[in-house]
Amino acid sequence: MLEKIKKWTGLEKRNPYINEYFERSNLRASIYMAIIVVVLEGWMLKELTDIVLKYHSTVEKMRDPYWLFTHYGRYGWLFLMGVIILIYTGFYFSGKKVNRVLGHVLIWVFALSCILFGIYVGYHDYEDGEQILTFLTMTTFTLCLLVWRPIISFSISALSFGGFYYLINHHLEVSRATRFNLLTMWIGTLTVAVSIYFQRYIEAKKDENLEIVNKHLRYISDYDELTGLHNLRYFTIHIHKKIKEINAEGKEAAVLYLDIENFKSYNDRYGFGEGDVLLKKFATIIKEKMDEESVARFSDDHFLIMTEFDEGKKITEELSKALRELSPNVRLELKAGAYVIDKEDEDISRACDYARVACNETKRRFDVSFFVFDEKLGNDMKRKQYIINNIDKAIENEHIKVYYQPIMDSRLGIMCGMEALARWDDPDLGLLPPYQFIPVLEEYHEIGKLDKEIMRQVCRDIAESKGTALERVPVSINFSRIDFDLYDVPAVLLETAKRYNVNCDMLHVEITESALNGDMEGLKATMDVIRREGYTQWLDDFGSGYSSLNVLKDYKFDVLKIDMVFLKGFDTNPETKTVIESIVNLAKTLNMKTLTEGVETKEMYEFLKSIGCDMCQGYYFGKPETHQRIFERIQKKEIDV
Ligand code: C2E
Ligand code: MG
Ligand code: MG
Repeated sequence: MLEKIKKWTGLEKRNPYINEYFERSNLRASIYMAIIVVVLEGWMLKELTDIVLKYHSTVEKMRDPYWLFTHYGRYGWLFLMGVIILIYTGFYFSGKKVNRVLGHVLIWVFALSCILFGIYVGYHDYEDGEQILTFLTMTTFTLCLLVWRPIISFSISALSFGGFYYLINHHLEVSRATRFNLLTMWIGTLTVAVSIYFQRYIEAKKDENLEIVNKHLRYISDYDELTGLHNLRYFTIHIHKKIKEINAEGKEAAVLYLDIENFKSYNDRYGFGEGDVLLKKFATIIKEKMDEESVARFSDDHFLIMTEFDEGKKITEELSKALRELSPNVRLELKAGAYVIDKEDEDISRACDYARVACNETKRRFDVSFFVFDEKLGNDMKRKQYIINNIDKAIENEHIKVYYQPIMDSRLGIMCGMEALARWDDPDLGLLPPYQFIPVLEEYHEIGKLDKEIMRQVCRDIAESKGTALERVPVSINFSRIDFDLYDVPAVLLETAKRYNVNCDMLHVEITESALNGDMEGLKATMDVIRREGYTQWLDDFGSGYSSLNVLKDYKFDVLKIDMVFLKGFDTNPETKTVIESIVNLAKTLNMKTLTEGVETKEMYEFLKSIGCDMCQGYYFGKPETHQRIFERIQKKEIDV
C-alpha cells in the first residue's frame, strides 16, 4: 500500500538512469520555454523602449518612473533567465562539463519566475477587467512542459492557483463562474501534468531496458561471455596493433591456437558446470600472464594468443603447467599450434585456421605438444581444400573412376570376384590413389557422395557385362563408417541395384574393422537390413590395428579379409605363417570364409592354398585396373573366370 502511495505521488526512489532521463527531458523542454520567453519578453522590452522614446520626443508627460522600473524589471528578469537557461542547456547538450546542482536551481528559478510573472500580470489584467490568459499560459507551460513528480506538480499548481485566487478574491469581487472556471482549470492542468509524468516514466523505463540490452549486445560483440576474454571477432579486428608492436621490436609475431586435451574427460567426470569453472579459471591465468588485448577465446576449450614466436613454446609449457595444477585428478594438457605471421596485414582468421591445423597435428603425435605450421601442412591443407571444392565436379565429369582388382579362388586358381577401388583421375593432378582423398572426404563428411557414385558405376559396369565372361563375377564395394551415419546405406544400395537390374548376389559389402567402433546397435541394425536383402558382408582389413576378436563375436560377417600386414614378414618371420593359419582356422570355426589381401608371390599363394584360405587378392594376380583392362586380360586368357 505504502509503495502504491509512493508510486502515485512520485515519492518512490528512482534509479540514476531514470533521474537522468527526466533531467534531460526537462532541460530539453526548458529550451522551448526559454526561446518563447526570450522572444516574447524581448519584444515587450522593445515596446517599452519605444514608449519611452516616444514620450521623450513629444512634450507629453513622462511615464511614472515606478511603472517603468517594475515593467523593465519584470520583462528584463524573465528575458535574462531565458538567456541563461539557453546558455546552460547549450553547454549541457554539447557534452561540456556542467554543474548539475546549478542546473536544477536554474530550472526551479526559471519555473517559479514564470509562474510569479503569470500571477502578477494575470492579477493586474483581471483588475483592469481583462482576461487572465497570462496567468493560465505561464502555469500551463511550467507545469506541463516541464515534468515534475506528481507531488510537486500538485504543490506548485495548488500554490499558484490558490495564490492567484486569494489575490483576486481579496481585492475584487470574484463571481461564482470565475471561481468554478479556476477550479476546473487547476484540476485540468494538474491531470495533464501528472499523466505526462507517468508517460515519461514509462518511456524512461523502456529506454533503460533498451539501454541494458544494448550494453549487453555491445559486450558480447567483443567479449566471450563465459570467460570474459575477447572473442574471435574482436581478436581478428584489433590484433594487428599487437603484431605491429612485436614487429617494431624486430621480432616475429605468431598466433598460437591452444587446445585443452582431455577436457572432455573433465566434463564427463565433473559435469559441464565444473567444466565452465575450469575454463574461467584458466582464462584468468592466460589474462594475467599475457596482455588482455592479445588473447581471445576461439570456442569451447580453444584459445588464441598473439605473441612473439620465440616465446610461443615457453608460454605453452607454462600455461600447460598451470592447467595441470588446476586439475590434479584428471590429467589435462595444453596442445598448441603456431602460425608465424609474416606480413602485418595478414588475414587473421586464416592465420588462426592455420594455427588450428598445426595444433591438430599435435594430436597425431603423442610426444609433441607444440607444432608450428609448415609448408607441408600448408600443401596438405591446399590439397584438402582442392578435394572438398572439387568432389562434386569430379563426380559430374566422371573423374572419379572405379578400378577393379581380381579376387581369386585359392583352390581353383580362377577369378571368383573383384574388389571395386576408387581412383580420382584429375585433369590437373593426375591419378590420385584413395589415401589422398578418402580420409579428407571422411573428415568433411562428404564420403557419401563418392561411395554412392562408386555403387552407381559398379552397377552400371555389371549391367554392361551381361553376356560376357564377367557376367557372373561379383564385385565387393568398400563402405566407410561415416557412410552409415550420413545416409540410409541399404536403401541407396537397393535403389541403385534395382535401377541397373543387378542381382543381390552380384554385390558384396565391405566394412573395415575400424568402422565397428562407436554406435554398435545402430550399425548392427543396418547390417541386419543389408543381410536380409540378400547381400553378403565382408569384414575388411582384419588385423590392421584396431583388431579385437570381440568384433567376430559381436557382428556376423560372411567373409574375413585378412589384412596384408600379416604377409609383411612372410619370408623372414616364421611366426607369420602360424598366425595366419590360426586366423584361418578360427574363421572356419566361426563359419566364415577367408580372404588374404596383399598376395604378391607364388610362395604366398601356395602357402595360403595349403592352409585352406578360401580366397586370395594381390599384385600376384593383378593390380587394380579399369573394367575394360580386366575384360581384355580375360580375353587374352591371362585370368580364368
Ligand atoms: P582396401 O579395401 O583394403 O583395399 C585394398 C588395398 O590394397 C587397395 O589399395 C589395393 O590396391 C591394395 N593392394 C591390393 N593388393 C596388393 C598387394 O599385393 N600389395 C600391396 N602393397 N597392395 C595391394 P587402394 O586401392 O589404394 O585402396 C586403399 C583403401 O582405400 C582401400 O583399402 C579402401 O579401404 C579404401 N577405398 C578404396 N576405394 C574405396 C571406395 O570406393 N570407398 C571407400 N569408402 N573406401 C575405398
Ligand atoms: Mg576393401
Ligand atoms: Mg582391405
